[in-house]
Amino acid sequence: MENENVSKNFIEQFIDQDIEEGHCKTVHTRFPPEPNGYLHIGHAKSILLNSGLAQKYNGKFNLRFDDTNPTKEKTEFVEAIKEDIKWLGADWEDRLFFASDYFDQMYEAAVKLIKKGKAYVSDLSADEIREYRGTLTEPGKEDPAGSRSVEENLALFEDMKNGKFADGEKVLRARIDMTSSNINMRDPVIYRVAHMTHHRTGDKWCIYPMYDFAHPLEDAIEGITHSICTLEFEDHRPLYNWVIDEVGKDMIPDKDEMPPRQIEFAKLYLTNVVTGKRYIKRLVEEGIVDGWDDPRLVSIAALRRRGFTPESIKKFVELCGISKAQSSADYAMLEYCIREDLKAKAPRMMAILDPVKLVIDNYPEGQTEMLPVVNNPENEALGSREVPFGKELYIEREDFMEEPPKKYFRMFPGNEVRLMHAYFVKCNSFVKDENGKVTEIHCTYDPESRGGNSPDGRKVKGTIHWVAAPTAVKAEVRLYENIVDEELGVYNEDGSLNLNPNSLTVLKECYVEPGLADAKGYDSFQFVRQGYFCVDAKDSKEDALVFNRIVH
Ligand code: ATP
Ligand code: MG
Repeated sequence: MENENVSKNFIEQFIDQDIEEGHCKTVHTRFPPEPNGYLHIGHAKSILLNSGLAQKYNGKFNLRFDDTNPTKEKTEFVEAIKEDIKWLGADWEDRLFFASDYFDQMYEAAVKLIKKGKAYVSDLSADEIREYRGTLTEPGKEDPAGSRSVEENLALFEDMKNGKFADGEKVLRARIDMTSSNINMRDPVIYRVAHMTHHRTGDKWCIYPMYDFAHPLEDAIEGITHSICTLEFEDHRPLYNWVIDEVGKDMIPDKDEMPPRQIEFAKLYLTNVVTGKRYIKRLVEEGIVDGWDDPRLVSIAALRRRGFTPESIKKFVELCGISKAQSSADYAMLEYCIREDLKAKAPRMMAILDPVKLVIDNYPEGQTEMLPVVNNPENEALGSREVPFGKELYIEREDFMEEPPKKYFRMFPGNEVRLMHAYFVKCNSFVKDENGKVTEIHCTYDPESRGGNSPDGRKVKGTIHWVAAPTAVKAEVRLYENIVDEELGVYNEDGSLNLNPNSLTVLKECYVEPGLADAKGYDSFQFVRQGYFCVDAKDSKEDALVFNRIVH
């Protein structure tokens, strides 16, 4: 038992304590995305943490869209977010909610605060409120409207609701403490006027609750026990608790349950990788990337399209751990996780990305033989296949050199190499075009070396892969690098991104084994000596395959 505690993260230790002390029977968590963009790897951490806790403690997990800010919200994002969360394996069952579902209750809660003398309508502009708020070293000043009577406030708030005021003309402020050392507690704005059409409630409302007021109420209404958020909300916790104490408590469905408890953890950052919605949105809008799911991005949709698996992302998030200390993980760790996951899952195939023809002069014209190949040497369960072999093959251009340097063991005139799974071949000659580019290499094979085995104990140092030309399937292969230049720095001085001009390489004339002809979107393979690849679900067609390199 003692040992078990050691491996628990600090949030689990809080939960254990809450259960032990009888504050709650189990946990009820939520993930509260704002539908203003696609989710990224950082959100995956929050999703897996929240849903994972619910699973571990046999509790519940809600998905709740925080749609209190109608300007930026779009239905497209709602659907994409749902798809991403499902794909990660987090299950909200029948508990899909929208903050806008609770606008009536939030309005009632605000009225209740006014009646208790704990909220008032202010005439100050946003700038004036900022001015009156004071600083870290200076207390704030009382709002001139702070002395309004309850009746007057009730009437004005109703007028706000009824559209009598323009945007910014009036706000509702909580009456807490203008001298508090915590600036968030200096009579924060809790309702604003905004004449905007909401994607779900239409024109019903022209006042909208502020996040710090809405969020604790949403948690209370849904019976959330542990409201897990990121570190930047730590200073907002006293306000969260104030709202719960003043009006939220009464909204909790099960009166025996504890009020929601806010717990903060550190955001996940990836070193030299762009995750901010603001930046990604700009890349998308300026057409620099192919949408939010461009495989160079780390949105969940992009990672999926690139070929990452939910298991690899889970593993990555686990390795990062949950803590209060801000830190940054390397992209290389994400790559490690996908390699680990695909190592035993992905069939190992042969593909030629930069082809040059190899002709076996002494191989019978028109003959094709099928050679048995194990699909994955690390996983017998994946079985084996037969790969066609013949007189004309494609090999990688870099596997031949006219004048090799020392320690080059691949193909060059006079040298013998092994064609993987096939035969020993010895290079005799080659053909060049008028530009000096090698167009064809000629060799002879040793029929006694079938399977790539030495017939007489003689050794070859190089083994190269190949694809038989007549049966090869032509495919496009896309290679990726970081979208930003890590050497020069991710951000320019003016705040723009320092783009890497080589982030995408498209190879249009690649040849893959015929066994790949039926590959479909999201199928992953290891291409011998080239890394792991995944069929691009967006651009790949039945007769025009497109592969993304996931990782080298
Ligand atoms: P961004 O910083 O990309 O704009 P956001 O915080 O505005 O993201 P929300 O939709 O508000 O996006 O976030 C939903 C939840 O995801 C919040 O609870 C937030 O704390 C959490 N979250 C956001 N970014 C990260 C991150 N990098 N690591 C862990 N959790 C995160
Ligand atoms: Mg946010």
